[in-house]
Amino acid sequence: MYEHDTIAAIATPPGRGGIAVIRVSGADAERIVRQLFLPRTSWEKLHSHHFYLGKIQDQPNGRPIDHAGLILMRSPHSYTGEHIAELHLHGGSFLTRRILETVLNQGARPAQPGEFTKRAFLNGRLDLVQAEAVLDLIHANNETGLHLAWEDLSGRLSQACSAIRDRLITQTAYLEAFIDFPEDDIPEHSQQELSSAFSSIRSDIEALAATFSQGKIYRDGIRTAIIGKPNVGKSSLLNLLADTERAIVTQVPGTTRDVLEESVLVNGIPLVVRDTAGIRRTTDEIEKIGIERSLSSIEQAEIILALFDLSRPFDADDALICEKIQGKKFVLVGNKSDLPQRFDVADLLLDNLDTDAPLHIAALYGTGMDDLRDRIREVALGKQQSGAEGEGPYKGVTITKIRHKVALEKAAESLKGAEQGLAAGLPLDLVAVDLRASLDHIGVITGQVSSEEILDRVFQDFCIGK
Ligand code: GDP
Repeated sequence: MYEHDTIAAIATPPGRGGIAVIRVSGADAERIVRQLFLPRTSWEKLHSHHFYLGKIQDQPNGRPIDHAGLILMRSPHSYTGEHIAELHLHGGSFLTRRILETVLNQGARPAQPGEFTKRAFLNGRLDLVQAEAVLDLIHANNETGLHLAWEDLSGRLSQACSAIRDRLITQTAYLEAFIDFPEDDIPEHSQQELSSAFSSIRSDIEALAATFSQGKIYRDGIRTAIIGKPNVGKSSLLNLLADTERAIVTQVPGTTRDVLEESVLVNGIPLVVRDTAGIRRTTDEIEKIGIERSLSSIEQAEIILALFDLSRPFDADDALICEKIQGKKFVLVGNKSDLPQRFDVADLLLDNLDTDAPLHIAALYGTGMDDLRDRIREVALGKQQSGAEGEGPYKGVTITKIRHKVALEKAAESLKGAEQGLAAGLPLDLVAVDLRASLDHIGVITGQVSSEEILDRVFQDFCIGK
């Protein structure tokens, strides 16, 4: 499962930069780096966790090719728990690749994606929740997402899981005391105590699982599409939401031919907003490609901001928009409220749409945006607006990953099985099987119970060098 060879990778993003870091981890890390790094002081004087300057010598000719820094982090006090050597180089991509090659020629193996973090997990430096949180921290694109990643990394969810496990272990031990002495029939009050303990643990697990829908929103953002016919003000609205001039605003209909994507915070809710090509029936081939993309954005969107032009009468293109948003979560927006009004809202509402009247805005002047932001938040959070943080002893802990949700749900299901078995008078050793299954499902979250398959799934999304 765990190969104890020495791995190496460029830990910084590809391309040019101020510095680039090559990370080497494993028993041979120091020996390998010694072949190419010439410190200003002698190797014998190098301490762990200190930064040393020196030169990189090209191999095999020994010619210096870079000034560099070296940090040694000796086992077990390192990220992976193994010996780590980190070379800090000038961030040229050719230079960095060349030095990595030399490192590999000295006996290191190229690291797989996430392999450093996987080793950290296998060596007990991080549990599985924390390893996943490393990836979340790297991908976080809003304050709340960052905060949630940090909470996981600092062990909030792990502690909650460990508390649930403790409670389950206590109940298993209690139950097993009765199994060991079968001649003693289980007293009525003990059975009730067990049953109510199971159900209380189960409802706490369920409350934790229920935080997922909100957690996911903060981690990934809500996929949102702005749609409407050409020139209705889609790019202007995206600019307002994003507070930038990224989308090109023009007076020629059909200019936003590609799909633009922007991460924005709307009243604290992260949205990944797509401004799309205006949807209308057209014969222009290029415009058609844009419209195809818009339609696929609509399919993928969790929320749609459907824009209508209040200064133009409702027409067949607007009717097309109404058709496309059927069955989706959407917010109706009437734009250009500053111009003479020629749009009859009744047409919109008659078009088989079961909805509130559109909010009126003037994207050009930013009017009506506060109400729009409120409405977006309302539609985004839906019923989860209250009690979103979860109840019970683990209040404040929010889960963000489907893997955790599934494991919690399975744990709750097994507990339910135990409750039903107890009520039905099943043999206690069968009830105990369900309890232990519940315990295992919780263990899967932190990695106390793991398999190669689970680990592969967790680490496959990591970048090389992490
Ligand atoms: P898109 O094709 O839907 O992306 O529309 P744009 O955002 O490019 O806007 C098209 C035109 O409408 C531009 O000239 C904008 O300045 C104008 N526009 C957008 N919003 C408003 C508004 O609220 N009032 C007025 N009067 N013009 C607007």
